[in-house]
Amino acid sequence: MNDYKNILLAIDFTDYGDYVAQQAKHLTEKFNAKLSVIHVLDNIPMPDTTYGTVISLESESTDELLEAEKTKFIRIADQLKIEPYRRWLIWGRPQEEIPLLAKQKNIDLIVVGSHGRHGIALLLGSTVDGVLHHANCDVLAVRLQD
Ligand code: AMP
Repeated sequence: MNDYKNILLAIDFTDYGDYVAQQAKHLTEKFNAKLSVIHVLDNIPMPDTTYGTVISLESESTDELLEAEKTKFIRIADQLKIEPYRRWLIWGRPQEEIPLLAKQKNIDLIVVGSHGRHGIALLLGSTVDGVLHHANCDVLAVRLQD
């Protein structure tokens, strides 16, 4: 097995996110790798913005919802000591934007959380399913207890 060199952590700001982040951080240290982080904005309206647009973390907007998302994202990235140029806030669909960024940045491991799913939720699929489907690198699904 080769060591991972570039790890991408996908975060969604849920309560379980800390655990997934700690696993990614642990692996990064173990492999002496670089850690990047992505959050895909899919829950606030962003008219006139095309999917895949990278949202600047430096410039301030007048959109309060967007600024709140940025603040959460920056706080987590700061806690994990991730360099500013390895932080990606992107507008779009998580299952597509996460693997796409991974390809563009030569990521060799994507780390996501995974809930056990049953019934309708299973039929609807998960972010992990989509990421696995589109990724061309390894994907670690950290099992989360409901
Ligand atoms: P879900 O399928 O929604 O339960 O999400 C499973 C995992 O996918 C989460 O633990 C995150 O690692 C990742 N994820 C979900 N939504 C997003 C998002 N909007 N941006 C980045 N990662 C996400």
